[in-house]
Amino acid sequence: MPPHPPAARVLVVEDEAPLADLVRTYLEHAGLSVRVSTTGPDGLAAAREWAPDVIVLDLGLPGLDGIEVCRAVRTFSDCYVVMLTARSDEVDTLVGLSVGADDYVTKPFRPRELVARVQTLLRRPRQGEREATSADDPPVRVFGDLRIDIAGREVQLDGSSVELTRTEFDLLATLSSRPGLAWSRRRLIDEVWDASWVGDEHLVDVHIAHLRRKLRDDPASPRFVTTVRGVGYRMGKGQPR
Ligand code: CA
Repeated sequence: MPPHPPAARVLVVEDEAPLADLVRTYLEHAGLSVRVSTTGPDGLAAAREWAPDVIVLDLGLPGLDGIEVCRAVRTFSDCYVVMLTARSDEVDTLVGLSVGADDYVTKPFRPRELVARVQTLLRRPRQGEREATSADDPPVRVFGDLRIDIAGREVQLDGSSVELTRTEFDLLATLSSRPGLAWSRRRLIDEVWDASWVGDEHLVDVHIAHLRRKLRDDPASPRFVTTVRGVGYRMGKGQPR
């Protein structure tokens, strides 16, 4: 048999067994390698030992809840995390994202929708890979005391390393690719998530808020990421360099 690239690994952490089984069936049907954990501690152990590419993580779990699991996973992995929330309650969503989730799906959801979200994350072009091939783009972008190493996916502020999630890094890489250009939320979603992503564009604001916090950027007087009212965001104040 010709060698196949290994199937992407998806860890499903969900305590409702019928739902977990349904999700597993759909993900496996899409050609993904799937494991299921039904408690927070088991999910965390599987994340450590199996090193999945994506974790589908229920918010309400026995033992450790999804937020605690996500926070713990982020200490050793930058895999993608899709949170499952029980209500379209924004607080759940925001809290989930603040611990480093990349996307969220609200229950009840169609399994196909979840599979599409997972595949979107797995297809997401790595900013570093895409940009590294562009000859006229400097490998390190500098904005004052902020250094963005696109190929190395490293960010330094005032000489110190800044730990960003993949989504935060991709947003920063996208914004900094065209300094001064105003990006709409939808265009940022097209670039960073996927043109097929459907959901609340407020997702962008949440990730920008976390990015700003990590860059110690004051939205009222931004040094790096500026809000463009009625449009979205831009890198820098808009003067050409
Ligand atoms: Ca649950």
